[in-house]
Amino acid sequence: MKGRALLMIPGPIEFEPEVLQALGAPTTSHVAPVFIDAFGRALERLREVWQCPSGQPFVVAGSGTLAMELAGANLIEPGDRALVVSTGVFGDRFEDLLSRHGARVTVLRAPVGEIVSAADIDAELGRERYKLVTVTHVDTSTGVRMDVSRLGEISHRHGTLAVVDGVCSVGGEELRQELWQLDVVLTASQKAIGVPPGLALLVASPRALEAFGARRRPVGSYYADWTKWLPVMKAYESRTAGYFGTPAVNLVAALDVSLGQIVSEGMETRWARHALLARAFQAGVDSLGLMQVPSKPAQRAHTLSACYAPENIEVPTLLQEVQSAGVTVAGGLHPEIRTRTFRVGHMGAVRAADVLATLGALETGLRRVGHRFDVGVGVAAAQRALVS
Ligand SMILES: *Cc1c(COP(=O)(O)O)cnc(C)c1O
Repeated sequence: MKGRALLMIPGPIEFEPEVLQALGAPTTSHVAPVFIDAFGRALERLREVWQCPSGQPFVVAGSGTLAMELAGANLIEPGDRALVVSTGVFGDRFEDLLSRHGARVTVLRAPVGEIVSAADIDAELGRERYKLVTVTHVDTSTGVRMDVSRLGEISHRHGTLAVVDGVCSVGGEELRQELWQLDVVLTASQKAIGVPPGLALLVASPRALEAFGARRRPVGSYYADWTKWLPVMKAYESRTAGYFGTPAVNLVAALDVSLGQIVSEGMETRWARHALLARAFQAGVDSLGLMQVPSKPAQRAHTLSACYAPENIEVPTLLQEVQSAGVTVAGGLHPEIRTRTFRVGHMGAVRAADVLATLGALETGLRRVGHRFDVGVGVAAAQRALVS
């Protein structure tokens, strides 16, 4: 790790050495007993991390967008109505994706930095008969976290399936799929799950599979079709090989290792660690006099922070200075605020020392571009949050 910058972007993140070792191990056959075992165990561990013992996990080679497609393509038939709750770029992506599969999409779009209230979702679901509703748990373009704990109950009252884009939350934010009655919770390997990019991951509830089974038309995407992947997932979980498309053998082995680490840390402990580190980092940013994109502190994500740069400061210049100070952070993503914001990921293997180092580098960068503040206040505020 020496001699290169600390990677603090909202995915890909820094990975644990054991995970990278699994990735670099000699590739086995996808029918080798050792791989069958790793895949089977990874699927079981997915259920634990998602907190969904009755769910059906899917692990398919691709990115988070494929995970979104695995949900949309299998649950939508042309003409179905879908409600998209958008708190940023990834909500808008779901609108586009579901429309491509023939859905008639309505969007409840929050202003940048805001959420959509549960009452508004409830009211809209009561107006039309929606097949599904999608909510982005944490939108990575705004750093806003939605409360999805009642989404399942609200949706089911209206006969609607609840789909959660958890790409920037699963493994970092509190999420209890079964208790919260969520029908699909999806993510990708490279965010809080802690595995290099390349795996789309999701868990589908029995209700989601039932809706899938009741389809009248075949799925419009060949590669994303659950009909093809279900027997494969079932085979590996019962410790036999299956084949539809060659599994990403090394990534699946790395996934097994990372999920094992997550499970042994314990979900409650892991969520609490992310909450504490986010609180510390965000307290540091506040005390540097920078605004954050989420309008309410309670709606700030625990996995990343989206921050406004000081007025009249060029974000690329600031980020270059932060990089020279040893830490890589990300630029803005949301089109409305892209040029004025930067984003910092603090998920997965992140530790208190990483948060302090990042604030230190941010202070150095801010100072170099002429922002006025008392040097050390950001680090001190974070330190206070960490030791209190
Ligand atoms: C990163 C991300 C995605 C897209 O994932 P890719 O792996 O880039 O395709 C979707 N939704 C959210 C919330 C994300 O953070």
